[in-house]
Amino acid sequence: MGLFNKKKEPEKRESEFNEIVKFHNLSNGFSMIIFDGSKTVIEVNNEFLKVFGYPIEGIKGKHFDILKSTFHTESFYHSIWSTLEKGEVFSEFLNLKAFKSNFIYCRFKIFPIHDKSNNIRYLALLDPIETNSNIDENIGNSYNLLLEAVNNNPDIICFKDGEGRWLFANQADIILFHLEGVDYKGKTDADLAAFTHPMYKESFLNCMVTDEKCWQKKEISRGDEMIKLPNGSQITLDVYKIPVFHENGSRKNLIVIGRDVTSRREAEKDLKEAKIKAEESDRLKSAFLATMSHELRTPLNAVMGFASLINDETNLNEIHDFSRIINNNARMLLNLIEDLFDVSLIESGQMQISKQDVDLVRIVKEVYEIFPVEINLLDKLDVKFLLNISHEKLMLHTDGFRVKQIITNLVRNALKFTEKGHISITLSEEKDMIHITVEDTGIGIPEDKLALIFEMFRQVEDGSRRRYGGAGLGLAISKNLSDLLGGNLLAHSELNKGSQFILQLPIQ
Ligand code: ADP
Repeated sequence: MGLFNKKKEPEKRESEFNEIVKFHNLSNGFSMIIFDGSKTVIEVNNEFLKVFGYPIEGIKGKHFDILKSTFHTESFYHSIWSTLEKGEVFSEFLNLKAFKSNFIYCRFKIFPIHDKSNNIRYLALLDPIETNSNIDENIGNSYNLLLEAVNNNPDIICFKDGEGRWLFANQADIILFHLEGVDYKGKTDADLAAFTHPMYKESFLNCMVTDEKCWQKKEISRGDEMIKLPNGSQITLDVYKIPVFHENGSRKNLIVIGRDVTSRREAEKDLKEAKIKAEESDRLKSAFLATMSHELRTPLNAVMGFASLINDETNLNEIHDFSRIINNNARMLLNLIEDLFDVSLIESGQMQISKQDVDLVRIVKEVYEIFPVEINLLDKLDVKFLLNISHEKLMLHTDGFRVKQIITNLVRNALKFTEKGHISITLSEEKDMIHITVEDTGIGIPEDKLALIFEMFRQVEDGSRRRYGGAGLGLAISKNLSDLLGGNLLAHSELNKGSQFILQLPIQ
């Protein structure tokens, strides 16, 4: 019969119409409806009545709208009639409303014909996807179950048409975007932004961008989308977008499914950070062991080496020199062991502070007095050692032993990293704090390493510094001690110009 040929001459259409009317009474295969020019049903066949369940009086004389479903937008219905008005066949899969309120999904073809009096008529052929009438009820039931499943799914689910207009959104989607009571059907994301809290606007606009990307890629896409909520927090959705195309390749539907993965993403981030930290601490441990064996072996070798040089023939001057070197290296060993002991106390939370009234001027002077000897021993005669104290006495209730340990550490570092210029200790009162500042004109510290040097086992790692030795403990211990004293330890430095370390102690 050539039912689906696109354009027909009027006479041919008339003979087709006669054939069709005959056919429709015999046919068991298709459901058929004939509409007049104003889209009113003027004829249906028995198959239609059987499949869609309408009594004849329930459909004849009724407008096409009685068959509309909530799945399609007004513009979709509009496209049916505009295609027909051009004299073309409209062919599509769609949901039509059956009598008992369920919907039937059909292959739907409708085309214009003329009756004997040359009046325009529209003949629709409906082919339900499942034609076995025994299971129609099951299909309807399955459909309802499906709708329930989609609606109650905790993931957000949204169907859009080819132009981004919402066709359906499940409860989770409605609740997430505060669209309760909003007639969202036929509206785009940009339209909907105006119907809900302004905080969602950015997410809606971003969503349109990722929708477009998905359309252009022509394949299922997946990615995280951030949704800013009205309370200022943010959630992360793991979003799938599934584009569906018409046979001619034009855009038909976009299915959007999003799962809230906020807590999972946070856990993943924590895990990643923990992994990086674990790797870093592994690396530091190995570096520490290497440094420590070097730091232990070097002075020990010196002690053993110079001790073995002393015999009956060694003169008194040499013995004095050797014993000075032995003494020096033994003291370095002792310092290292004391540092390790302090680290273990700090790590186990057992470091004790014992506060008394102490004179800071006396403490600073004691440190100052030790170092000229060290400067001589290290042969750093180009380094001036200065003391800036304007007080006679400066009493503070604190742990004098630990304060002295911190200043000694700072001065020892200054001495280690300074070849010429000066090292100074300054004692000053600033508001409710006492500052003890150790300044040097040494190699300085790169700005990005300033925070890092206060961490345990950390050193500024560049080849040229290795020659200075050290286990990377002094500043970490000093920082911990200054915290325990209720104070603070700060560092300022400029590479190749010098450094300034300030121990701040509270007066109260
Ligand atoms: P170390 O035993 O390695 O000196 P510290 O914890 O005392 O351990 O210092 C850590 C690192 O900080 C040093 O290795 C060095 O790179 C840097 N540093 C500390 N003080 C100074 C300073 N006065 N001048 C330059 N660099 C310094």
